[in-house]
Amino acid sequence: MTTTPDLTSLTRLGAGCELHLPGDDGYDAARTPWNLAVDQRPAAVAVPRTVAEVQAVVRAAAAAGLRVAPQSTGHGAAPLGEGALDDVVLLRLHALTGVTVDPTTRTARVLGGTLWEDVVTAAAPHGLTALHGSAPDVAVAGFALAGGLSFYGRRHGLAAGSIRAVDVVTADGALRRLSATEEPDLFWAARGAGGNVGVVVAIELDLLPYADVYAGMLLWDREQAPEVVRAWVEWTRTAPESATTSLRVMSFPPLPELPPFLSGRDIVVIDGAVLESDEDAAALLAPLRALQPEMDTFARIPTTALLQVHMDPPGPSPAVADHSVLGSLDDAAVEVFLEQVGPGTRSGLMFAELRHLGGAFGAPDADGGVLSHVPGEYALFCVAMAPTPQAAVAGRAAAFTVVRALGAWSRTSLVPTFTETRVDPSRFYDGEDWARLCRVRDAVDPGRLLVANHGI
Ligand SMILES: Cc1cc2nc3c(=O)[nH]c(=O)nc-3n(C[C@H](O)[C@H](O)[C@H](O)COP(=O)(O)OP(=O)(O)OC[C@H]3O[C@@H](n4cnc5c(N)ncnc54)[C@H](O)[C@@H]3O)c2cc1C
Repeated sequence: MTTTPDLTSLTRLGAGCELHLPGDDGYDAARTPWNLAVDQRPAAVAVPRTVAEVQAVVRAAAAAGLRVAPQSTGHGAAPLGEGALDDVVLLRLHALTGVTVDPTTRTARVLGGTLWEDVVTAAAPHGLTALHGSAPDVAVAGFALAGGLSFYGRRHGLAAGSIRAVDVVTADGALRRLSATEEPDLFWAARGAGGNVGVVVAIELDLLPYADVYAGMLLWDREQAPEVVRAWVEWTRTAPESATTSLRVMSFPPLPELPPFLSGRDIVVIDGAVLESDEDAAALLAPLRALQPEMDTFARIPTTALLQVHMDPPGPSPAVADHSVLGSLDDAAVEVFLEQVGPGTRSGLMFAELRHLGGAFGAPDADGGVLSHVPGEYALFCVAMAPTPQAAVAGRAAAFTVVRALGAWSRTSLVPTFTETRVDPSRFYDGEDWARLCRVRDAVDPGRLLVANHGI
């Protein structure tokens, strides 16, 4: 039997916290996630500014018979938005932000909704950086709590592995500190399934000792995709852990706001970071540079500039995606990839990406969390723009087509941060870890008050 949500008591008990209900003037703006293709319609949207307000909303929601979905930016909103949210308070954390860097311990403490660009900017004056992803405006929480693939990752592992402590408001409204010595079971679960444990209001992270990095991109016309894709796949077979790169075949419509090298073009791009001296990085990249890219921006850059290398959209965008994890790619796999997105094809995708895994990404850590590594050699990520519901349907089909075509090389595992559809979440974790994770979730949130984009 379902309980009818009591929105009056929510308003009363959540007193002081910014709250938007359907029909309010601010409701539509407040419910809109970064991914504009996701039409999430919760029972209410709360925007807490303090930890006390987070606690008040969690308690009020429980008392009102509602559930709570924490969301920092909505980059990962797609799986959440696929569910019915009419008994859910969307807890948007963009007003609970801030970074404190401790250069002595080489750590940062970041509040619940903080973006990576703010962490990277705060760490840079100390000659430090973090295991951030490609986009500046992704939040630390949704990224690191779900693993997080960084361009430093083949050397330094998943971002979840850099988490030292977490402050979380659990389903009972309590504020708890999680670390290796405080509530270790919850700390283990938070590092890989964080949105299921509670509302994370602060994260303490290890930082990396880099002030600059050899990074950039190589760009060719898509006509050269056959030789570029073959060469990159061959190159990745022996590339050291110091190199973390991605290959994308991309298509851009002719738009005046795009630079000429992108507007109306089909291209192939290799980008990423190489943690080597300039000389060694150049030697490593030589076989790719020998293919004479029309653009080559690889050089030593400040770590803050790594956030621009991948050319992610500068603001909220409508997109749909599909994903799989691939094992090693033989010549036949490369041919299938090219048949799907190579010269002359019209895949309907904005891009098909192969992100190089392996190295420290693939190394289990006994002291890590539930997601201490991801198996496989490449993460395939296919993205289509979806400005209308019709385009979303076509885009999903286009992305699925490429993922399915490479099915013979795909593994059953998935990378949570690249999974934009509702899937069986056990696919993110090892079997025994999955069973333990379910037990931890049952203990901390038996009534399933918390709603995560990938719910346990
Ligand atoms: C342009 C772009 C570039 C990207 N680049 C990369 C990349 O390089 N590497 C990579 O691994 N991924 C990448 N991603 C994927 C991204 O990491 C995921 O979408 C991630 O979930 C985004 O986190 P978020 O907090 O910003 O998103 P949100 O949608 O706000 O959060 C996603 C989920 O995380 C949980 N969550 C978020 N905040 C909290 C909190 N404070 N407390 C508890 N739970 C919380 C919730 O369960 C929520 O449903 C990219 C995505 C985009 C759109």
